[in-house]
Amino acid sequence: MSRPAILGGEPVRSAPFLPRKTMGEAEKRAAMEVLDSDVLSAFLGSSGKFFLGGEKVRAFEDAWKERYGFKHCITVNSWTTGLMVAFGALGVEPGDEVICPPYTMSASATAAMFYGGVPIFADIEASTLCLDPEDFEAKITPRTKAVVVVHLLGRPASMDPICAIAKRHGIAVVEDAAQAPGVFYRGRPVGTIGEVGGFSLNFHKHIHCGEGGVIVSDDDAIARASQLIRNHGENALSEEEIGHFANPIGSNYRLTELQAAIGIAQLGRLEGYLSTRQHLAEHLTRRLEQRPGLTLQSVEPGSTHAYDVYPIRYDAETCGLSRSMFVRAVAAELPSPKGFESMPLAAGYVKPLYLNPVYQNKRALGRGGYPWAFNPDIEYTYSAGDCPVAERMYEEELVLSPLVREPHTTSDIDDFADAIEKVLDNAALIAKEASHLDDGQVLTPVDAANATNTT
Ligand SMILES: *Cc1c(COP(=O)(O)O)cnc(C)c1O
Repeated sequence: MSRPAILGGEPVRSAPFLPRKTMGEAEKRAAMEVLDSDVLSAFLGSSGKFFLGGEKVRAFEDAWKERYGFKHCITVNSWTTGLMVAFGALGVEPGDEVICPPYTMSASATAAMFYGGVPIFADIEASTLCLDPEDFEAKITPRTKAVVVVHLLGRPASMDPICAIAKRHGIAVVEDAAQAPGVFYRGRPVGTIGEVGGFSLNFHKHIHCGEGGVIVSDDDAIARASQLIRNHGENALSEEEIGHFANPIGSNYRLTELQAAIGIAQLGRLEGYLSTRQHLAEHLTRRLEQRPGLTLQSVEPGSTHAYDVYPIRYDAETCGLSRSMFVRAVAAELPSPKGFESMPLAAGYVKPLYLNPVYQNKRALGRGGYPWAFNPDIEYTYSAGDCPVAERMYEEELVLSPLVREPHTTSDIDDFADAIEKVLDNAALIAKEASHLDDGQVLTPVDAANATNTT
């Protein structure tokens, strides 16, 4: 067997991986049509025909609704603002608590703070990496207004138990499906299993229009409130409506016609992207599932996985090699994939959010300690150990690969699996001879992108 590349041996592969290419003829045509029309946005911030935007914005919303059977769809200029809109529409008020997993993109937790909501973190399940229903229930107080469920990495969260608990306590469920467009949970599309949900259209997501987001809901009042908040609602609100919404004032969270037109073309690609990723993921799972020390994800019948990235739980003790050395040794066997996440494997995903300075110092809105100070009698604390499963995934177990996606093929995936097998077969040797290279740092996907990307 050849020597591991990290010890100077021949790598498994040197031919570069093909770069991801997201924009094609359909997007170019769509964009040109809008440019030719000269109407790059048709929104008007007052009641009337253009309050809900122009032709492309409405066509994009209709297309998304019809594809998945959502009753309402409201496009916005990012999913971060989409989350803010959702909390505003649900009537989050200063001092309301919003439960959220800490293992997610920061906006899942910060969005409610713009309405004075206080983030309360509940742990994740090791098997799904999504909110743990039991810990969610344990964190409920009389002040809990909503829960954010993140379908992390494209795998649906345990919605049935979560929604049952939420219903029992009168808590609204917000689905952050930024990484899970087109995903199903037990036969139902994610996004409207709870009260309101949505998707991101930023460059790094499955489909995109540069920046953008989509809110979905089956609830008429939430949809109307979302439309108001998206587009200066104070100008469009009727006399009889003013009492109906806790947060009727709006902002400008509007998507442009150009982005909507590109979004329509992108939506046409989503099913194809998902089936490619699912096919590659199945192939990789078959290659790795017998390996001791690697735990792979699966989904239950009726559910699907979007594989934003492919997650593996790595047991360093069983494998005989630290996680940081495993990630580096696999990377040494392969060329860097092109694009942003330019390591074939990264570690940890993100640091659990509550360990960041915003929560440690409770400095978010102003110098007076808001939103926490809205409940002056309650001592909110965020400490290491709060969510042990999320911390373990970050510090010890999780590794992620961006290779499981278009335009890669099963032959690319075979090279990746070969690299993993080669490293694990040589684990003892690598541990012995390359230990001086082990800085033990958690090389997250963002670190990897910053270290190597040349885009
Ligand atoms: C990308 C992402 C967001 C934010 O979406 P933007 O469109 O970038 O604002 C929120 N939550 C999760 C889980 C995400 O992955």
